Amino acid sequence: MHIITRNHKHLADRLVGRRKQFTKGCRIVLEALKNTQGTPSAQDIALQLKNSLSNQAPGLTTVYRSLELLARLGIVQVVTFRDGERRYELISPGEHFHHLICEQCGKTTRISACIIDGLAQSISTEYSFMVKSHVLELYGLCKQCNDSTNNAIPNLLVEVS
Ligand SMILES: [Zn+2]
Ligand SMILES: [Zn+2]
Repeated sequence: MHIITRNHKHLADRLVGRRKQFTKGCRIVLEALKNTQGTPSAQDIALQLKNSLSNQAPGLTTVYRSLELLARLGIVQVVTFRDGERRYELISPGEHFHHLICEQCGKTTRISACIIDGLAQSISTEYSFMVKSHVLELYGLCKQCNDSTNNAIPNLLVEVS
């Protein structure tokens, strides 16, 4: 469950303030992101806004740009699916998360800890390369999808034989 704090809003206002035309869009998108379960795509957010704001809702392009701007500002994390689809989730500045992404149903689960920090440090030393950030997502099948796949195989074999 995402929690939007007053800090988020203040920070967004402060950071976005210089580009006034984005302020409103970003605030609406932040609010929508807070109210959406899971890890929505720009399309999901745009659809949700259309349902709640009808004619007042920003278009898909504005939603997408707002999300990308919020991601650059560090208040939103981009979660990239294997097919390249970009999804978004609210984070606190400086936070980052890794995810287990189910390729069948699209369910994303946050991994509680950073599993690469130590490795990034040693690579940084070995290659004299200053690592500033990293992305790591794990793709596979969630328990539910894996169970139903396993159940489907025996049935298939029975039908074939
Ligand atoms: Zn699944
Ligand atoms: Zn990490």
